[in-house]
Amino acid sequence: MSDAKAPLPPTTFANASTVSEAAAGAILTIDLGAIRENYRRLKTRLNAAHCAGVLKADGYGLGAAQVASALMKEGCDIFFVALLGEGIVLRKALGSGPDIFVLNGLSPGSESQALAAGLHPVINSAAQLKAWREAARATGQRLAAAIQVDSGMSRLGMAPAEVQALAKDAFDDIDIRFVMSHLACADEPRNPANEAQRLAFERLRGMLPRAPASLANSSGIFLGAPYHYDLARPGAALYGINPTPGEPNPMLPVVRLQAKVAQTREVEKGAGIGYGHTYHARGPLRLATISFGYADGWHRRAASAAWFEGVRLPFVGRISMDSIILDISALPAGGLGEGDLVELIGPSQSLDDVAGHAGTIGYEVLTSLGARFHRRYVGI
Ligand SMILES: *Cc1c(COP(=O)(O)O)cnc(C)c1O
Repeated sequence: MSDAKAPLPPTTFANASTVSEAAAGAILTIDLGAIRENYRRLKTRLNAAHCAGVLKADGYGLGAAQVASALMKEGCDIFFVALLGEGIVLRKALGSGPDIFVLNGLSPGSESQALAAGLHPVINSAAQLKAWREAARATGQRLAAAIQVDSGMSRLGMAPAEVQALAKDAFDDIDIRFVMSHLACADEPRNPANEAQRLAFERLRGMLPRAPASLANSSGIFLGAPYHYDLARPGAALYGINPTPGEPNPMLPVVRLQAKVAQTREVEKGAGIGYGHTYHARGPLRLATISFGYADGWHRRAASAAWFEGVRLPFVGRISMDSIILDISALPAGGLGEGDLVELIGPSQSLDDVAGHAGTIGYEVLTSLGARFHRRYVGI
């Protein structure tokens, strides 16, 4: 009936799952083999350019250490996190091998912690540059860093005026691994902002010491070779999010989310369903309540459906914290029972479909997924 009792694949990660399958209300399956295949597909597009892996927000919610280990098997040895704290955790998990860069830079006074963990800052301001040079002088070593310039997103990185004002010796003691910037509209290939940012990036990096360059995120890779430079920084595409919205997804799906049926029941016409009775049965209905709710990261206002063996089972009534009621009348009587699993993300309903129903993006769906799931890593 379902694969609820399929044997667990072996896993090498201590934190692979803190909740057993029997104890969890939902099961998140993460296909590390698909992540590796997605990395290979991006590398093929990049030709000679290197390809890093972006692991911020715990690998977009899927487990930064597990994803990094999978990518390292494909030869990936440069990773990005957003925060120093994420970098410290990742360094412990990975050991001293790969380069780990902290995208949001270091807050004042945290330089020694970055040094102790062997992490490289992305330097976003002249003040951060000065602080990292001081750290370098204190240790008597040249210290690695990436330099980020703002080519037109107004988020992170040195502004053009700040770059221009840098002294000739501003980078003494710094080993500039690459100069980078980030695209604001890469998922809109016809948006003229892309070319404008690329030209601004060219101009800004011309004012800096010669170093390799990095501009493209996932969607940026699909803008073509002029955007590839020396290093690409994909996140979303590795995790199966479509980097080319509006066109078929060139990536493999990576996640499957299934929730367990806690109870089934039949109700009469007119029965009030869920909090606030926002829904009343228009006729006799068969219902299933699943152990999954807004506390698991499913937006309360996102009307949607679950699927079972290709049959759509619409949500009825309000989404509760720990449960959702499904109309299962489309299934034969007895076709779904307690402990069976219904699909929330998977072959019948893609991550991008779910995001579309919720009025958001796949990135937010993934990073919202809660901590109560049994996590199953496959394709190891
Ligand atoms: C998040 C991020 C990326 C990865 O972006 P995706 O769209 O997930 O590929 C790359 N670079 C920077 C600076 C980022 O913040």
